[in-house]
Amino acid sequence: IPSRYGTGEKSVWVEYIQLAADYKPKVNLGQGFPDFPPPQHVTQALGDVAAGENHLLHQYTRGFGHPRLVQNLSKLYSPLIGREIDPFNEILVGSGAYEALFSSILGHVDKGDEVIVIEPFFDCYEPMITSAGGVAKFIALQPKKTSGNITSADWVLDEKELTSLFGPKTKMLILNTPNNPLGKVFTRSELEMIANLCKKHNVLVVADEVYEWMVYEPHKHIRIASLPDMWERTITIGSAGKTFSVTGWKIGWAYGPAALMRNLQVVHQNSVYTCPTPIQEAVARAIEVELARFNKPDCYMFSISKELAPKRDAFVKTLRENGFNPTVPDGGYFVIADWTELAKKIDLSSEKDKYCDYRFTKKFAKEVGVLAIPPSAFYSEPHKHLGENYARFCFIKKDENLGLADKLIREWN
Ligand code: PMP
Ligand code: GLN
Repeated sequence: IPSRYGTGEKSVWVEYIQLAADYKPKVNLGQGFPDFPPPQHVTQALGDVAAGENHLLHQYTRGFGHPRLVQNLSKLYSPLIGREIDPFNEILVGSGAYEALFSSILGHVDKGDEVIVIEPFFDCYEPMITSAGGVAKFIALQPKKTSGNITSADWVLDEKELTSLFGPKTKMLILNTPNNPLGKVFTRSELEMIANLCKKHNVLVVADEVYEWMVYEPHKHIRIASLPDMWERTITIGSAGKTFSVTGWKIGWAYGPAALMRNLQVVHQNSVYTCPTPIQEAVARAIEVELARFNKPDCYMFSISKELAPKRDAFVKTLRENGFNPTVPDGGYFVIADWTELAKKIDLSSEKDKYCDYRFTKKFAKEVGVLAIPPSAFYSEPHKHLGENYARFCFIKKDENLGLADKLIREWN
C-alpha cells in the first residue's frame, strides 16, 4: 500500500459492517441508514426512469453533473444561499458526499498544507487529507458538563485554541454541521467566529452539510456559505442519500464559486468522471417534486425532522432509563451516549481492541444484540480517549426496531 494511505488499516465501517454480518445483531443501530422505505415519489421516479421511453437516460451523461440535476440543485440552493448559483460552473455531482469531499480535499490541499478539522469528525476526512499530502490539525469540541442532562449544544469549541491553529500554512477548515456523530448544529455566532478566522487568514471552508434537513426544533441549520463574504471561500457538500433516505444511491454534490469548483472538476474528471445517469435523473425529478411543495409540511426536507424527533426522544429515554448518559442531538440521526456507568455490568476482558469503546460496542452487540459504533473512530490518534466513554447509536429506524432495542437493553439491564 502506498505510504500516503498509512498502514491501510480497515476503517470502522469496513470492520463494523463485517461485524454485523458475522454476529447478526437483533437490532443494527450502527452504520447510518434508514430501515424504512424512502418516500414513494422518490423510488417511483427511479422506476419511471427505468421503464420510460428515453433510452438515452441509460447512457453516459455530462461528467460534472446531469443537466436536469444540476439545474434543480441550483433552484434548491440559490434562494437558501441568497445568490444565483450557476448550475454548470458552480455545482459538481459526485459519487455520494464521500466523493464530493474527496474531490474538494484532493483538489485543494497540496503537500504540506494544513487543514483544521473539528473533532469528533466523520472519519474519512483524515485519510483524505493525508493522501493529498496535507497535515490535519485537530481541535476537539468539549462538553461544558459531563453529568446531568446534556445536549449537543453543550459541546463547544475553545476560541483561543481554534485561533492558535491558524497559521501561514493553513489552507482549509472542514466544518460538519449538523455534526456526525454528535448532532451538534453550529449556531450563527459559532459560525461567525469560524468565518471571521477563515477570512482573516484567507482559508477555505469545506462545509459538510449532508444532514442539513435533519434539525430539531427550535434549532435552525445555517449554511456558512450564506454568511457575509463567505461564498467565495466555501465549498458546501450535500447528499441525495441523506436527503431522500436512499443511502444506497450514492449521489452527492458540492457547490461553491466557479474558481474553487474548477479544482474539484479536475479530480472528478480524472477519477470517477461521470455518475450514473438514471440515479441522477431520479434525484432531479425527486427534487422537482419537493420544490413544488417547498416549505409546506408534506415536503420531505421538512417532514423528515418531524418524523425523526419522536424517535430521538424515545431512544434518549431508553438510554437514560438504562444507565447511559446520552448527549441529546439537535440535528442529524445519531446519538452518542456515555456508557461508563454500565462498566460494572459488562465484562470486556474477552475483547482485545486497544480502545474501550470498541471493546464495549463489540461486547454489547454480542451480549445484548444491539450494534452501535465506537466514537473514538471519529477522533485523531492522540485524542481518541475523548471518544472512548461513548457509543454512537443511529435512530433513523422503524419504531418497532427502536422498541425492540428498548426491550433488549431493558432485559439485559
Ligand atoms: N459526511 C458525513 C458527515 C456523513 O455522515 C456521511 C455519511 N455517509 C457522508 C459525508 C457521506 O455521504 P454519502 O453517503 O452521500 O457518500
Ligand atoms: N454516514 C454513515 C454513518 O456515519 C455511513 C458511513 C459509511 O458508510 N461510511 O454511519
